[in-house]
Amino acid sequence: MKITIFGTGYVGLVTGTCFAEVGNDVVCVDVDADKIERLNKGEVPIYEPGLEELVDRNRKAGRLRFTTDAKAGVEHGLFQFIAVGTPPDEDGSADLQYVLAVAGTIAEHMSDYKVVVDKSTVPVGTADKVRARIAEVLAKRGASLEFDVVSNPEFLKEGAAVNDFMKPDRIIVGTDNPRTTELLRALYAPFNRNHDRLIDMDIRSAELTKYAANAMLATKISFMNELANLADRLGADIEHVRIGIGSDPRIGYSFIYPGCGYGGSCFPKDVQALARTASEVGYDAQLLQSVEDVNLRQKEVLFAKIKQHFGDLAGRRIALWGLAFKPETDDMREAASRRLMEALWEAGATVAAFDPEAMEEASRIYGKRADLQLCSSAEQALEGADALAIVTEWSVFRSPDFAGMKQRLKQPVIFDGRNLYDPDRLAAQGFHYYAIGRPVQE
Ligand code: NAD
Repeated sequence: MKITIFGTGYVGLVTGTCFAEVGNDVVCVDVDADKIERLNKGEVPIYEPGLEELVDRNRKAGRLRFTTDAKAGVEHGLFQFIAVGTPPDEDGSADLQYVLAVAGTIAEHMSDYKVVVDKSTVPVGTADKVRARIAEVLAKRGASLEFDVVSNPEFLKEGAAVNDFMKPDRIIVGTDNPRTTELLRALYAPFNRNHDRLIDMDIRSAELTKYAANAMLATKISFMNELANLADRLGADIEHVRIGIGSDPRIGYSFIYPGCGYGGSCFPKDVQALARTASEVGYDAQLLQSVEDVNLRQKEVLFAKIKQHFGDLAGRRIALWGLAFKPETDDMREAASRRLMEALWEAGATVAAFDPEAMEEASRIYGKRADLQLCSSAEQALEGADALAIVTEWSVFRSPDFAGMKQRLKQPVIFDGRNLYDPDRLAAQGFHYYAIGRPVQE
């Protein structure tokens, strides 16, 4: 099948590549000429496990092409995927300018029937706006062409994106007619062989399903963080509580880890956007607002512990392990590391940071500054630091050489925002170990 994808970010690039991998003919379009040039040279601009190999294979096979030529892109595909960003606007609502710009571009260049598939995360009612924009541009052109608009939100997780796309838990398809549902069913058939994972519904429900999923996951995290803060004050250990409640199958173990706040390009903006959508229809979404507020507060918790331990932070050097918002990605959008670093800098401390994949991204965001040292290894970050703070649970941080760590650090102090270690074991080795919602062992 002929497929065009607008946007070659985390979602667009993975979507295009995986469609090519099962034999489709895919053209990916982006306005970022630099990105397209890199992709055409065989470079993958993001870190996503397994993606580079797949891009390479499909590019060489001629099934996956990259271009800035939107006209050629529109001419190519029966399916026109919109996978561009929907960042938060000033009021927290999703900014639809990129989505609607693509809709306009499709309408400008189309000359036959197209299925316009919205893969970006967009508020309920966006498909109507996309349809209206296409109709408006077609009318201006004096063209009378048929098209359908589909909501097909994406559920891939950064860090496991290829696997999630190839073996999805569900494929949500929102349409307003059975013919389009059948086209999407055929398109997704290669990813739907083991059992039927395609769930079809009306467009508005599909749009809301994506926000509901992210809001539920964010709620689980904020709930556990609230409980962790309580445990901190009550002398209980949240890790025991987590295991205790997870054993109830109605609760389950997944996604109930306490930590130093959720980040990334999705949860923060999607929770805000859903709350904003609620207020637009006159509903005060109190729970969603609290999920967001608890998370913002949680991003301050590690800094508060550091400040409480040291008092004045001016001139202190803090080693930071982890910059990405979660392991297995280089994405630092809304990462907890950013709030922590910024708070440390405001307090006059310097940061020596290491992340297995996000060093380039950190340098792109912060450039050169005297109070940030981007280190080439986890060990180097520790050299001469007053303490170690951990914000991303990369597996290489899970079992470090604690004796070596003690030698490198000026003081044996760890602030662990992801509860990676056993407090008793660390106390026995002479560390001051602060975690989230766990009693401090002196
Ligand atoms: P991204 O910022 O990584 O990529 C967006 C890309 O779109 C950029 O390369 C940008 O240059 C390009 N673009 C912008 N305007 C364009 C235009 N007019 N024509 C062609 N390309 C254009 O974004 P992302 O993380 O891939 O997210 C895309 C959408 O998918 C968002 O709505 C997001 O909420 C949603 N989503 C993201 C994830 C995730 O894990 N990142 C998961 C599910 C859904």
